[in-house]
Amino acid sequence: MMIRVTVWNENVHERELPEIAKVYPEGIHGTMKRFLEKEPDMEVRTATLDQPGQGLSEALLADTDVLLWWSHARQEEITEENVRLVCRQVHAGMGLIALHSAHYSKVMRALLGTPMTLHWREHDSEKLWCVNPAHPIARGVEPCITIPDEEMYGEPFGIPEPDEVVFLGWYKGGEVFRSGVTFHRGYGKIFYFQPGHEEQPVYEMPQIQRIITNAVRWAAPGYRVKEYPDNVHAV
Ligand code: ZN
Repeated sequence: MMIRVTVWNENVHERELPEIAKVYPEGIHGTMKRFLEKEPDMEVRTATLDQPGQGLSEALLADTDVLLWWSHARQEEITEENVRLVCRQVHAGMGLIALHSAHYSKVMRALLGTPMTLHWREHDSEKLWCVNPAHPIARGVEPCITIPDEEMYGEPFGIPEPDEVVFLGWYKGGEVFRSGVTFHRGYGKIFYFQPGHEEQPVYEMPQIQRIITNAVRWAAPGYRVKEYPDNVHAV
């Protein structure tokens, strides 16, 4: 069965900063779409903040099996209604993959309910260690991936205790970070993945693409309802 993927991207840095436009001429969403749609079991759409309704609607989300989300500069502009729509679909079974600075998106804060803060420093380099090679998201992934130029994200990371830690990041500054973690909320599966600072073409790295592709398959719903059940008075 085809996995219906929607890549939602804020698409602000790519449009406003020429040096970022050079890194991602199609936008981060365009890059994601290009490599994901090579998979025979995925059909991929993109949506961006500047579109009507911020690129989101109840109909689009109801027709999405897995939503990828990249945001940074304008996360606070996402409407409460859109946050509610995304959370509702995750609770009903839609998968969510939150990328890089989307740890602090309104959607992730609402779903996980903890501060979601961290330490950061630009222009570090990361060794991404796979600490759970048996996990489906780690299939075909090398034990350690070196990302030559990546923003450091450091602990403490204000997430709830994750269900699983699949990747740990180590930076040349000495910090460590839970760079690939999973959660369940309602019937939906969530994967947070740290790599992907916009100044370097990290999403062009084949091993990073492998992880994101695996994550889409992992997060695709095995069970999906129209709406997570309300409180029901038992008779
Ligand atoms: Zn960044």
